[in-house]
Amino acid sequence: MRQLVILGTASQVPTRTRNHNGYLLRWDGEGFLFDPGEGTQRQMIHAGVSANQITRICLTHVHGDHCFGLPGVLSRMALDGVAHPVHLHYPASGEDTVRSLVSVSSPGIDLRLHPHGAGGTVAEGLDVRPLQHRIETYGYRLAEPDGRTLLAERLAAAGVSGPDVGRLQREGTLAGVRLEDVSVPRPGQGFAFVMDTAPCAGAEELADGVDLLVAESTFSNDDAGLARQYRHLTAGRRGSWRQVRASAPLS
Ligand SMILES: [Zn+2]
Repeated sequence: MRQLVILGTASQVPTRTRNHNGYLLRWDGEGFLFDPGEGTQRQMIHAGVSANQITRICLTHVHGDHCFGLPGVLSRMALDGVAHPVHLHYPASGEDTVRSLVSVSSPGIDLRLHPHGAGGTVAEGLDVRPLQHRIETYGYRLAEPDGRTLLAERLAAAGVSGPDVGRLQREGTLAGVRLEDVSVPRPGQGFAFVMDTAPCAGAEELADGVDLLVAESTFSNDDAGLARQYRHLTAGRRGSWRQVRASAPLS
């Protein structure tokens, strides 16, 4: 299952109805928690997200509204006895802040720290690109490898059925039948997460062609001057990324 659960979208100051940042992406067997701000643990309860579902935590940067929820979430994971490894990705210059937040968390989970200091691949299928904010900040992009969709009528015409279908997928050919003859290309799905940034090449690279983009818009178009001053996007700027395929739902 692939599903995005929005836990909060407020930035520096929460409101009565909006919590600080927090986004849980269910992606097949993994659970990516992005930018857990204060109160994320309680938002997870409201949204029906258990601590056990989180396998990877990704911080764009260490401003408080993007990471002060970390000790609560990590402590809850320890309390619930999460046994699987939990990977934590963050900008290298945030090391002191991240270690401080981790140090006040309850111990007991297998937490693995992965700082990154440049754009590139940080885990299988997971890339980062530098953004332009007031401190070191990175956006994330998750990409599924391209695959192929099998066509039932072509499989039937080729006489391939039952367990032979799986064998053909694994081996590429089976008794003279080629996988490409009974299937069509299926582009892998993509997800991008862009927070706190001035317009920049990194943000556009992350957003290019993805099926689902989460991007901040801290300021309205009327406050474009403040957006420039504090290095944020405006709602209008975010909406201008026409290349994003907004119509393709995550499956
Ligand atoms: Zn920030």
